[in-house]
Amino acid sequence: MCKRPSACYSWSRFYLFVFATISVVWIGHTQARPMATAQENPFTGTSFRMDSDGIRVSSRGFEAGARTHWHTHSAQLLFVKEGRLRYQVQGQPVGEIGLHETTYLPRGIRHWHGAVPNETLTHVSVTFPNADGDHLAIEWMEPVGDEQYTNR
Ligand code: MN
Repeated sequence: MCKRPSACYSWSRFYLFVFATISVVWIGHTQARPMATAQENPFTGTSFRMDSDGIRVSSRGFEAGARTHWHTHSAQLLFVKEGRLRYQVQGQPVGEIGLHETTYLPRGIRHWHGAVPNETLTHVSVTFPNADGDHLAIEWMEPVGDEQYTNR
């Protein structure tokens, strides 16, 4: 087919180029296709999206030993993103939760929360309005003294 070695070399390079091009296009095509399991409705049974109006999300960092004052506000879910959280609801013992754990503080209940004495904390706070969409104005009270903070 080819009499000169240089011509054979060119043809083999050409076929390699064609093969590589087809491979790249084919791989891109297979990866662009949706997964066989993906469907228009990815739910079994009835499920519907609900609005998240009024839900407030924030994140706060605490150095070791830092904590809020006593306070009240709307119902609050606290999620530990980093570190360890210490908290207390009035009339209950001091509690702690660790990484990726949550605690729920009902609306209007007097409480405080913060880091443990020897580790920093980042928590994510989610506060919820009542059925009418209303939030309680946050009310700050006295600081949490060292004795109370360490009373475990
Ligand atoms: Mn709070």
